Amino acid sequence: MYDVYKIREDFPILSREVYKRPLVYLDNGATTQKPRIVVDSLVNEYYSVNANVHRGVHFLSQQATELHEASRETVRGFINARSVQEIIFTRGTTESMNLLAYSFGEAFLNDGDEVIVSVMEHHSNIVPWQLLQQRKKIVLKVIPMNDKGELLMDEYRNLFTERTKLVSVAHVSNVLGTVNPVQEIIQIAHAHGVPVAVDGAQSTPHIPIDVQALDADFFAFSGHKIYGPTGVGVLYGKEQLLEKMPPYQGGGEMIQNVSFEKTTFNELPFKFEAGTPDYVATTGLAKALEYCAALGMENIANHEQMLTAYAMEKMSQIEGMRIFGQAEHKDAVISFLVGQIHHLDLGTLLDRLGIAVRTGHHCAEPLMRRLGIEGTVRASFALYNTKEEVDALVNGIERVRKMF
Ligand code: PLP
Repeated sequence: MYDVYKIREDFPILSREVYKRPLVYLDNGATTQKPRIVVDSLVNEYYSVNANVHRGVHFLSQQATELHEASRETVRGFINARSVQEIIFTRGTTESMNLLAYSFGEAFLNDGDEVIVSVMEHHSNIVPWQLLQQRKKIVLKVIPMNDKGELLMDEYRNLFTERTKLVSVAHVSNVLGTVNPVQEIIQIAHAHGVPVAVDGAQSTPHIPIDVQALDADFFAFSGHKIYGPTGVGVLYGKEQLLEKMPPYQGGGEMIQNVSFEKTTFNELPFKFEAGTPDYVATTGLAKALEYCAALGMENIANHEQMLTAYAMEKMSQIEGMRIFGQAEHKDAVISFLVGQIHHLDLGTLLDRLGIAVRTGHHCAEPLMRRLGIEGTVRASFALYNTKEEVDALVNGIERVRKMF
C-alpha cells in the first residue's frame, strides 16, 4: 500500500507554513525536498566520518572512501549499469552534459560532424554543444515536435547522414512532461551506428531506469532532483566509449603519474573525477536512491501518474486554461497559462496562497519559441504530493483568474 500521508512524515519541510498557509510544494521539477534519512546521512558523515577519500591510509579516510565507493555501487544498481567503472560522479546533469560534450567532442567529433538534439531540450543539452562549436565546426540538427509535444519520429529518421556522430535527447521534457520514446530513438540511432546520450534529469525521479535495457550509451541525472543532496550527479557511459575519451578536467585523483614531461591518467571512472569529490553528497545520494527503491519506482510512478491524470482533468475545466504538453506518454509535469494572465503574475499570486510553482522559460527558450510564448507556469509533482494539493492548486488558479 502506497501511503502518501505516511511518506510525507519523512519530509520535515512539507509540514512548514509560508505566509501562514500550509506549504504546497509543486516545484519538484526544479528540485525535490529531502527525506530525513538523506539529511541525517549528511550530518552523520560530517560528525563522525569526515576525511578526504582515496588518499589517506588512516581509518577515517578509508571509511569515507568505502562509503563513497559503496554509493557508486548503489547508483550502478539503481540504473542497472554493467559496472561501477561506468558511473562517473559529477556536480549534476549540467556538468555531466558539459563533460560529455567536451570529452566526446575531443575524441569523436570533427569539423562538419553532426549532433542531433531535440527542440524540447533544456539549455544544458544545447549550450555545451554550442561551446564545442567554438572549437570544432560541428552542426546541431534538431528533431521537431507536433503540437501535442511529441517528437516527430519520421523527421528524426530523416536527420541521419554519414556525418551524424551522436544523438543527445531528453528522456522527459522539463516543460511538457513528454516521455520521449528513447528506446526507439536509440534503436534507430544504433541502426546507423550512432551512439545516444540521454538527459535523464526529469525521468530518473519518476520512471524505473535500466540503462542496459535501453541500451543507452550515456545517461545523465542530478541527485537533487531525486531527493538527494545538491551538488552531486551522475554521468553513466559505456565503458568502451569512456575508455576512448580524454579527461575533462585535470588535477588530483584523475592521474596515475605526473611529471613535467609526461602525465598518465587514472583508470575509469577516476579519469573523469578531478579533485576532491563531494563524498558526503554521494552518500546522501545513495540514501535517496535506496529510499526510492524501498518505496518502489513502479509504485512512485503509479502514484504520480494518478496525480497527473487527476490534475490534467481538473485543470482542463478551468476557463481560459491552456496546457502545453498533451503527449500520450506524459510525466508529472504540467505547464500552463490562463487567459491573458502573465505567468509571473499567476505564479506570484499562487505563491501568496502557499503554492510553490515555477514560472518563466524553464531553461528551454528554443521550446518557448516553438510554442510561440515567453513562458509558462509549471506545476511538477513528486512522490509526496497529494490530491488535496492538486485541489489547492486548482482552487488557487480559479481564485487568481477571478481576480483578473
Ligand atoms: N536537463 C533537464 C531536462 C532539466 O530539467 C534540468 C534541470 O532543470 C537539467 C538538465 C539541469 O539539471 P541541473 O541543474 O541539476 O544540472
